[in-house]
Amino acid sequence: MPTDLPHRISEDEYLHCIRCGLCLASCPTYRLTLNETDSPRARIALLRAVREGLLERPTDRTAAQFFRCLLCGACTFVCPSGVTVDRILELTRGEMAEVGLLPQPLAALNERVRRTGNISAEPGESRLLWASNLPAPPRGMERKQAEVVYFVGCVGALFPRSYALPQSFVQILDRGGVEYVLLGAEEWCCGYPLAINGDLEGARQMMQRNLEAVRATGARTIVTTCPSCFHFWKHTYPVALGEDLGIEVQHATEFLADLLEAGRLPLRDDPPEQVVTYHDPCDLGRKSGVFTAPRRILKGIPGVRLVEMAENRGGSHCCGGGGNLESMDPALSQAIAARRIRQAAETGASVVVSACQQCERTLTGAARAERLRLRVKDIAEILLEALRE
Ligand code: SF4
Ligand code: SF4
Repeated sequence: MPTDLPHRISEDEYLHCIRCGLCLASCPTYRLTLNETDSPRARIALLRAVREGLLERPTDRTAAQFFRCLLCGACTFVCPSGVTVDRILELTRGEMAEVGLLPQPLAALNERVRRTGNISAEPGESRLLWASNLPAPPRGMERKQAEVVYFVGCVGALFPRSYALPQSFVQILDRGGVEYVLLGAEEWCCGYPLAINGDLEGARQMMQRNLEAVRATGARTIVTTCPSCFHFWKHTYPVALGEDLGIEVQHATEFLADLLEAGRLPLRDDPPEQVVTYHDPCDLGRKSGVFTAPRRILKGIPGVRLVEMAENRGGSHCCGGGGNLESMDPALSQAIAARRIRQAAETGASVVVSACQQCERTLTGAARAERLRLRVKDIAEILLEALRE
């Protein structure tokens, strides 16, 4: 029976939460459906019911409530009682998986990653296809050893609609004279999708393999353009593998902000004037605390004027792409993305900039669906456009 599932939330936390509800106004799923079962508090209450045995046994419908969440952390960010709802729900998903209640689309995703080392079950060699139509091959492809590893991540490496991100990033690195290396087929999924779907052992195998691949390059720094890879490498790898990596982990925005401010990037003399707004990705901003680096870049690009959305930084609204919600309820995910893109349009900006391939993809789809004249770009794309040839 599920009542023997380990408790990872204290009795005090349960009681605070069930009586509270303060975070409801921050939760993107609840704000859209106005259905109490989609609220953080209801998910915590449901978890308590499962653990107290009030439900004879959890069913697929019970489990679905834990998976209809973006894991965006907006609730955790505002909670006055310190309840880490997103973390608790990550663990609860694992517990649901252990009792055979992982929803089918997520079970299929886990199987693909375990079998092939990436989310779309492609051969490892496909991880560098994005580099094939650049004006010149990225210099990182030629090297086996370097100070810096660029860890591309599955979506950037394998989804053609996201190729512009790694393509822009490596061109900036090459123009800045950075010595970096690409892992290609030696790079595997970072493990995050497995971990949030309850397969911690599978995730650990990915981590071990990736760490060995990075160590073989002799690199002292690993840079990622994907906020989820970044958060996972920085915060989960050392704990899950039980060792200090001995390697600095940086998000691309941190790396590029330093490069720009060090004067290593040659800026154009005739920059186009443009008004942009910045969307904070949940895993980069609220979950990792990286708020200023992307804004330093945007403020350092001549001709760019940054206007903020009403909900920004820690209070940012998820793009709809978090927590694998797209696999569970695509319509809900799209409606959340639509709300965010309308918030962007209200600023009067003509470009929405983010720092995540997932945000760029979901917000681009939302701009199209909402028929808004808004371009969505990654920060690497907008920085590359500002550089001299
Ligand atoms: S997560 Fe925190 S803010 Fe939200 S209902 Fe529970 S106690 Fe209140
Ligand atoms: S993590 Fe996000 S979607 Fe999930 S309950 Fe909290 S605010 Fe809602």
